[in-house]
Amino acid sequence: MNKKVFIRTFGCQMNERDSEVIGGLLKKSGYQISATDKEADVIIFNTCSVRKHAEDRVWSLIGSYKGSKIIGLVGCMAQNYKEKAFERDANISFVVGPQDIDKIPEVLGKILETRGQSPKNGDSPLLLERKIWEADSSIRPEEIYHTGFYQDKNHAYVVISEGCSNFCSYCVVPYVRGPLRHRKSKDILAEIQGAIAQGITRVTLLGQNVNAYLDGKINFNKLLAQVNGLTGLKEFDFFTSHPKDANIDSFKAIRDLDKLVKRLHLPLQSGSDRILKLMNRGYLAKEYLELIDSYRKIVKGGLLTTDIIVGFPTETEKEFKETCNLVKETEFNAAYLFKYSSRPGTQAEKIAGDLSREEKEKRHKQILDLQRDISKKLRHKRSHEKK
Ligand code: SF4
Repeated sequence: MNKKVFIRTFGCQMNERDSEVIGGLLKKSGYQISATDKEADVIIFNTCSVRKHAEDRVWSLIGSYKGSKIIGLVGCMAQNYKEKAFERDANISFVVGPQDIDKIPEVLGKILETRGQSPKNGDSPLLLERKIWEADSSIRPEEIYHTGFYQDKNHAYVVISEGCSNFCSYCVVPYVRGPLRHRKSKDILAEIQGAIAQGITRVTLLGQNVNAYLDGKINFNKLLAQVNGLTGLKEFDFFTSHPKDANIDSFKAIRDLDKLVKRLHLPLQSGSDRILKLMNRGYLAKEYLELIDSYRKIVKGGLLTTDIIVGFPTETEKEFKETCNLVKETEFNAAYLFKYSSRPGTQAEKIAGDLSREEKEKRHKQILDLQRDISKKLRHKRSHEKK
């Protein structure tokens, strides 16, 4: 067949892994995965809906191909827009949601079958322009994770759970990726063993809320111990923890398991209790600080990183300062700092009192400068300690 496919990925590590899964499935079906869009016959956009900016970029890139390639929209935007994506851009030939990525080779096959056929008597050429969308499934078949296709020769992302049931008020993930589902621990271990057999020595376990992992009697901490015991694995970490489910046992696992990286990414989002409540995060700033305190006591010298959203609707100057104060007090090694972006269909979209763009930018810059100084100071301190 020899058709070449270029996959362009936006968003989080979960999408990075999904793109590998899609690449593995397409390779198995006889397609070639191309490193650039130039030589590709098909361009697949694996998209993110978490921020409007990322969506705008995808629409503009799709528009730039002007019918020269077969274009597929997959991932979170596909689930969000479904068949409406075809109205938004006529260049798109197929739309496939995150739970249906296993169907992409079949969908693409059908598109290629009809493409290039000449219209028969009475047919409009437009009838031959097939458009397919798949966004109905609720689960992914386990086999998709076992194609053995990884972009990196040394490191693999391994999904341990899909979806999310937390419904943070600003977030589209529960709507586009469905409720939290856990993979079986034996399947996760088998996938990692397969990756090790290919020479991979480092692994990142992925989930929207890894601490909530549960497969029968195997909870997250037991899974960590099982992964640590795999022969041939040199190092692993996990991403992302949720403060409402993070616990002392997982901090002890970070301390005790020799292959587990001494690092914790624990999204704070805001230092104001009122904003945390509006965000539906399920913890208070004080509880977050207590967790951090335990982490630092247990994992001596462990790295700590976070996510913060500034300019959430109705956030006052005083509440923003509370976040800044918490950042100063906690001294994160690094932080992903975002300006709030309203997402259609979320609860936060209904909260009146969106802040002006200028105000969000001002707060974003302020906290960015603050965090930069802290990160620099901590890096300096660590490099001195190493000498
Ligand atoms: S925990 Fe909250 S922010 Fe994270 S994916 Fe789930 S709903 Fe979104």
